Amino acid sequence: MKQNYAIIGLGRFGGSICQTLVDSGQEVLAIDNNEERANEYMNVATHVVVGNAQDEMTLRSLGIRNFDQVIVAIGEDIQASILVTLMVKEMGVPSILAKAQNEYHARVLEKIGADRVVHPERDMGARIAHQMVSSNILDY
Ligand code: ATP
Repeated sequence: MKQNYAIIGLGRFGGSICQTLVDSGQEVLAIDNNEERANEYMNVATHVVVGNAQDEMTLRSLGIRNFDQVIVAIGEDIQASILVTLMVKEMGVPSILAKAQNEYHARVLEKIGADRVVHPERDMGARIAHQMVSSNILDY
């Protein structure tokens, strides 16, 4: 089913989500406050905007509330990640996925209403370890 996605933050995580969604035929609005980062996705995302997602007017003018899914892929600036997640939630977006930098950050994101919180390094580490253990069992 075709849905429209907004990705806030085009680091390795947000960028990879953007590329994969577009490759799967989805509509993607990508937002980053770093012009160089945004430019890298001009030919990838459906629409690219250079802007500060912490600015409520920017989010409103982009019509963020009309998106099916919003991905908050800001990691390092924890304050920005929390504020943006909160604003997007208050705007009524039905599904929000947010990237957490650490356990405390993850707990706050869950409390303020992120529908899914991911911690890419931790989650990938756990997945690889599970795969190693299950392939050992199969080898045995
Ligand atoms: P990753 O781990 O995904 O590679 P990163 O370490 O490069 O990310 P992060 O701090 O997690 O960097 O930020 C991800 C992206 O979010 C960056 O491209 C950054 O420019 C963007 N970003 C950070 N704050 C904002 C903001 N307030 N509005 C829009 N984009 C932002």
